[in-house]
This record gives sequence, structure tokens and C-alpha cells, in this order.
Amino acid sequence: MTDIAIAAPSALRTISDKYRASGPNDLAQLQRALSGPLSGFSPMVAEYEDALAEWFDARAAVAVSSGGAALSAALFAAGVERGDDVLLTPSCPLCTVFPIIEAGANPIFVDTRPHGFGADPASIAERLTARSRAIIDIPMWGYPTEVDELRGFADASGLRLILDLAHSHGSTLRGQPLSRYGHLSCFSTHERKPLATGEGGFILSDNEELARRCRSYIDFGHLTGRDFGLNYKLSALAAALGLSRLPRLADQITQRRANARRLLKRLSHPRVKEKTIIAGGEPNYYFLNLQLDFADNRAFIDYLDRRGIPSDIKRYGCKALYRFPALAPYQRPCPQAEALLASMTTLPAHPGLSEADLDYMADCVNGYDGD
Ligand SMILES: *Cc1c(COP(=O)(O)O)cnc(C)c1O
Repeated sequence: MTDIAIAAPSALRTISDKYRASGPNDLAQLQRALSGPLSGFSPMVAEYEDALAEWFDARAAVAVSSGGAALSAALFAAGVERGDDVLLTPSCPLCTVFPIIEAGANPIFVDTRPHGFGADPASIAERLTARSRAIIDIPMWGYPTEVDELRGFADASGLRLILDLAHSHGSTLRGQPLSRYGHLSCFSTHERKPLATGEGGFILSDNEELARRCRSYIDFGHLTGRDFGLNYKLSALAAALGLSRLPRLADQITQRRANARRLLKRLSHPRVKEKTIIAGGEPNYYFLNLQLDFADNRAFIDYLDRRGIPSDIKRYGCKALYRFPALAPYQRPCPQAEALLASMTTLPAHPGLSEADLDYMADCVNGYDGD
């Protein structure tokens, strides 16, 4: 029956994967910002940093102009210099790897775990050298990775653990925000991310010295001429939006989790299930991740696309990063990461979706009869 309903053109929907969380006081906060200085030294920026530190239970928060800027500052704070190695998985966006190259360091791709996007300790151990300075772990689409184990490994090996949490605002492991496990945790507040200020980002750390180095880096080394730096400060206008929107973030994540639950409850296709959530982990459902077990997974993703259901895997042409021409020189075998990217898709779960949208997505999945 479901099949027939879906086949009728009138039943087709277009599901949006875009969601921009507005805040209850956007205009009031922007107006407040306009009554003071607008640079990164505005008291609004300091107020936003305090609010971020409190929300994420971090000792220090440093607001920056983008998620990419957060990564550059974190790499500098971690002591990464020209010729150093930075280890990361190849299953993340290009945004994570370019700051490493910009720093003059070498991205060293390590494999993922078989079941998820966390860096595999065995692969790290195999590719570690005397030049290794830092590991970047990237929990994709808000699904927690084994950041606790990685932190232990990093501490034991004298490396810094940088977390790219651009997707993961509010994702937790054993009840703690993922950012608690990184020496430095980087976030984006780009338009598409769960906390959105247009462009923007921030770094969290419990280590005051690392936070101090980030602050110096994003302000041209405080213009003392002793330390290198660039201008990556966040403007007061973006901070005002962050201040307005942060109080709604918890509700947004609750809604995302409820949406994912509703969709998953209705899902009955034997070859589709939610991707593994690691023990103690709770995703924020930036996107719902589905594990696919078809002979041709791409055909299934295309089928959903034709029914108006977008996939991040398709939108970004997700593949191991060393398969992109600019990164081919950094190729290292990462068979588990390749298998992971080839065996999954994403579905939106944002609060802008209606119950009918969620049910439609589940019904479309259930109605697929390809192999
Ligand atoms: C969005 C994103 C970035 C970059 O953030 P910008 O604010 O766009 O610079 C970095 N890493 C990941 C995983 C992202 O999704």
C-alpha cells in the first residue's frame, strides 16, 4: 500500500536539508551590539564567549571568524609548525584538512574504526613519527567517536588532540559534551550548522595556556612582533546573533532527537538501519546516519534524491579526501574509511521538518525495492 501511495506524483515532497535556527531576540541583540564597538574587542564578544564556556562546560571559549579559523588557531596553539605531521581521518570535509596544509604541516591520513568515523588507534600507532604533533578527530554528522580513548592515547604519546566539532554541538559521550575530551575543540557557526551566526566559529579548551595561544593567534600575535598571528576575530554583530541563538540550542537538539526517533521507529527496510552509536554516546542528529546494505548503495541514494530527499553523501560527493586531486599526494590506504563512506547515507532531522516529512522519508526508504 505504502508503495502505491509513494508512486503517486501528488505524494512526492521536497525535503529541505537546510535549517537556520533563528533566535527569539536576534534584533534586540543586534541593536545592543550596534550601540557599542563592533570589533572583536567588543564586550558583546566577551559576553558571547562566557555564554559558550558555560553552555559547553569549558574553562575557556575563544570566538573566531569561522570554523576554518578555529582549526588554524588550534593548530598554532597545539604547537604545530612547518614540517610537522598532523594525523586525521580522510572521511571529513576538505575544510578540516586545508588549515593543516596552510600551516605548512603534513596531513597524515589514518583509517577510521570499522563501525564509525573515529580515528583507529591501530592506524595512528602505525603512522606515528617523531614529527607527529597532533591528532584531529572529526565526529561526522554529530555521531560521537571514541574521543575518550583518543585523549588517553594523545596524552600518553605527547600529542595534542584537536576535535573538529563543526557538526557536533550538543553531542555527548558518557553525559559530557564531546569538547570536554579534546585539548582544543573547534566549532563552526556557519549558516548550516546547529548554532548559526552566518559565518563564525569558536574554540573551547580547559587549558588556559592553549586558550591564550589561540587568542594571540587570532589577533596578529597581539601585534607585539614576538608571535605570529592573523586576524581571525569574530565581529560583535555575529556574536550578538550567537548570544540570541545559544539559549535555543538545547531545545533544537531535543527536537532533532525526537525527529530521529520518530523516523527510525517507522523504518522497516531490512537493508537499512541507523549507523552504530558507540556505547555511552548520544548524537545531536545534525543529520541522521543510515547504514546501507544494498548491492548498489548509490542507486538507493539516487532513488531517494528523485523523491526529493537530499543526502549529504551525494551533495558533497563524499569520498576519501586523498581521492580529490589537490590531496592525491597525501594518499595512504584507509580501507575502512572508504567502506564506511560507501555504505551510508544521511537524512535530515532538523526541527524545520514536519511529522509528515519524517513519515514520508521513512515510507520512501521502506518502499525501495532495488537490491
Ligand atoms: C563547516 C565545517 C568546517 C568549516 O567551518 P567554516 O565555518 O565553514 O569555516 C570545518 N569542519 C567541518 C567538519 C565542517 O562541517
